[in-house]
Amino acid sequence: MRLRLEVARLLLYKIAGLLEAGDPTLLETAMTKVYLSEAFVESSRDAIAIFGASGYSTDAQVERDLRDAIGATIYGGTVDIQRNMIAGLLGLS
Ligand SMILES: Cc1cc2nc3c(=O)[nH]c(=O)nc-3n(C[C@H](O)[C@H](O)[C@H](O)COP(=O)(O)OP(=O)(O)OC[C@H]3O[C@@H](n4cnc5c(N)ncnc54)[C@H](O)[C@@H]3O)c2cc1C
Repeated sequence: MRLRLEVARLLLYKIAGLLEAGDPTLLETAMTKVYLSEAFVESSRDAIAIFGASGYSTDAQVERDLRDAIGATIYGGTVDIQRNMIAGLLGLS
């Protein structure tokens, strides 16, 4: 979970650096959207596993994170559409 957080933060910092330099960010933004939202799903699943049965129920209040995380793979351009964009920007489609 910490590794995902660190990688996501580095990707965000890279975009900030590109924006500051006035460089294009379309590819990096699409890659970050995919990575960050899917990392959020994986870490939310890990959080539920850590809490065991209470993680699955509403007791520990971590199950809400998984629902929010899945939402992030859908809104603002689904991860499928982001992947299509990445492939296009890499000249693969
Ligand atoms: C929590 C949440 C908040 C939202 N907030 C907003 C908001 O504030 N404003 C707003 O306007 N909308 C919002 N939305 C709507 C969101 O933008 C759409 O749900 C999203 O764009 C997907 O569109 P759709 O639901 O019509 O799915 P569809 O377009 O029908 O897609 C269904 C599935 O097929 C996949 N798919 C579709 N086309 C392709 C393709 N060409 N290649 C590969 N896969 C494809 C999609 O990735 C998806 O998994 C929100 C959605 C959620 C879940």
